[in-house]
Amino acid sequence: MPRATVAVIDLDALRFNFRRAAALASPADTMAVVKADGYGHGLEAVAGALADLTSRYAVACLEEAERLREAGLTHPVVLLQGVHDKTDWPRCAEAGFEVVVHEPGQLEDLFVSAGGAQVLWIKVNTGMNRLGFSSGDIAGIVERVRRRPNIRLRGLVTHLACADDPGHPMNAHQIGLMADLQNEFPDLEISVANSAAHYRDGDAAFHWTRPGIMLYGGTPLLGKTGQDLGLQPVMTLQSQLIAVRELDKGDKVGYGAAWQASERCRMGIVAIGYGDGYPRHAPAGTPVWVRGRRVPLIGRVSMDMIAVELTDVPSAQPGDMVELWGRHVSVDEVARLAGTISYELLAGLTSRVPRRYLAAGS
Ligand SMILES: *Cc1c(COP(=O)(O)O)cnc(C)c1O
Repeated sequence: MPRATVAVIDLDALRFNFRRAAALASPADTMAVVKADGYGHGLEAVAGALADLTSRYAVACLEEAERLREAGLTHPVVLLQGVHDKTDWPRCAEAGFEVVVHEPGQLEDLFVSAGGAQVLWIKVNTGMNRLGFSSGDIAGIVERVRRRPNIRLRGLVTHLACADDPGHPMNAHQIGLMADLQNEFPDLEISVANSAAHYRDGDAAFHWTRPGIMLYGGTPLLGKTGQDLGLQPVMTLQSQLIAVRELDKGDKVGYGAAWQASERCRMGIVAIGYGDGYPRHAPAGTPVWVRGRRVPLIGRVSMDMIAVELTDVPSAQPGDMVELWGRHVSVDEVARLAGTISYELLAGLTSRVPRRYLAAGS
């Protein structure tokens, strides 16, 4: 028997969340962001399950885009981080990938590359100051690109720095700069919104949104869970109790003897740890679902196991199924307690955890 630790991926929930994003984005169109192995859910499975719903995919890099082609998906694919080497340009042209350029050197390489027709997006730095050309330089770049007969410029992209906080003034500033560019270049397609921006009212919709985390049921907004927003959790991370024991008052549990029983109690060991991607910084008290109720994590998270307090579930025994996150314990809640975001927990699930898929429609 293999270890019971598994991530069950509900592809119907993924499709539900995509439809929700598309409805919020409308009249803008929606490209599904499937980078980082589909936020840890499995790139090919996630992209395949959305194939009839999305008209485009967005990924970080060429290797991810090529995996989509190998999986038989012929949709346009946007490379959000562009190319990382000049030898990537002919591969992009041949596969028809749409490349976001953010750096003058990428353009110079493209101009001298021998590849065929190339579709481009230009990244605009509207204030996040990671990637992109400043908005004042866009007119000159558009003009240069348009002089190249083998380049088709599709549009302009920017990324919001503070979209998780809808009231932050940075949002309106960045969106305003893109609205100005839209007026200046009415024939270009504009893409601004990540998941969080789907929850802003009254903004210019532009042409394309780029939802990622919300497709997987994680929250893009501070202080809310995905379920608070009506999203369905896609991943259920589950394992099994592999030991149950009684502790006396004063007994300690785990590395560093960091947790001590304040009275006689029952505890259990679950076969999951940071070697699987369960966060090592999850503190004592983080909820774990056992036999229909939440019990607290106790002691430190180890590489292959965690301990939970079972005094309130006297019937619990080795072999019982345990949910670490999913429908009963939100991945957003675990992330918040561990001082991180659900993006990191989902994308950080390790290859030791098999993904088991519930087929769409099952
Ligand atoms: C990852 C990414 C997204 C998706 O962001 P979410 O917050 O997960 O919706 C959108 N745009 C760019 C440029 C990204 O890198």
